[in-house]
Amino acid sequence: MSTFPQLDAFRGGNGVVRLVGHRGARGIMPENTMEGFEFTIGIGVDALEFDVVLTRDRVPVITHNHTLLGSATRHPDQAWIQEGDLKVSQMNFADLQALDVGGLDGETVYGKRFPDQAFLCNVRIPRLTDLLELANRPGMERVCLLLELKSDPEAKGDTLTQRDVVEAVLAEVREQNLEQRTLLHSFDWDLLDECRRQAPEMPTSFLSELPANLDGAGEESSKSVGPDYAALTTSLPQAVYSAGGQMWCPYFQDVSHDLVAEAHDLGLLVTTWTVNEIPDIERVIDAGVDGIVSDYPGRAQRCILSKGMHWEG
Ligand code: MG
Repeated sequence: MSTFPQLDAFRGGNGVVRLVGHRGARGIMPENTMEGFEFTIGIGVDALEFDVVLTRDRVPVITHNHTLLGSATRHPDQAWIQEGDLKVSQMNFADLQALDVGGLDGETVYGKRFPDQAFLCNVRIPRLTDLLELANRPGMERVCLLLELKSDPEAKGDTLTQRDVVEAVLAEVREQNLEQRTLLHSFDWDLLDECRRQAPEMPTSFLSELPANLDGAGEESSKSVGPDYAALTTSLPQAVYSAGGQMWCPYFQDVSHDLVAEAHDLGLLVTTWTVNEIPDIERVIDAGVDGIVSDYPGRAQRCILSKGMHWEG
């Protein structure tokens, strides 16, 4: 049995499949925003996945790409920013606050992926602290956090930067006393090593995505910071177990019943991302995963219920 109470909210079985809102509920609300997180909690999905990047003045902020996405970010005059222009690590938090991340440019490839996403104005990139404070409000005791640390491919192998990022993030989680409701999650398995060194009391969740399967447009490449999958001499669950992880988070196209069973035999939990289409959601439930990360948590709720299961237990 695990010694990490944080894992209970992510453990499936006995008619339960856990549901995690991806960047809040990206399919219908602006991603990685307080508005999206509050919406997701409001529909009864208390597990939130989100991405953390450090600003130049060392403020952990919640945004996916190191270089802000042109199709999801506006200047104060509402003009879309130029793709590739603004890198979070080169900006201070105050600079970020001038930008509006409440909508998607429907003319772009990324914008076309989420035609149902609400378009809001005056939405700011939140600080990690803003979400932690929300989780500490009365009535929010069930909220749990799948906190993804985004490793900058340009800083790959830079252990000082890694240490700095982990320190800054952990300081805030500890300041809010939320270690017991947080999992540290990353594609960068070296960074997760650093997490385990600095926070042995917090479980680590190992993301994977095999090179054969590509994710969608607008996603900043995560593969360049991940392990060399071709060089692995064991299965992915075995590799995660050997690396000291508690949870394996495979891309949904890489999930099979046998791999889930192998992970469970090793004592790992399995939470798969990002599962949005109904046949895919049904398939991963049938494969026996503990949890599903989805841009459409409402749709996933309905799939889980249709199988006579629930996401809370
Ligand atoms: Mg993420």
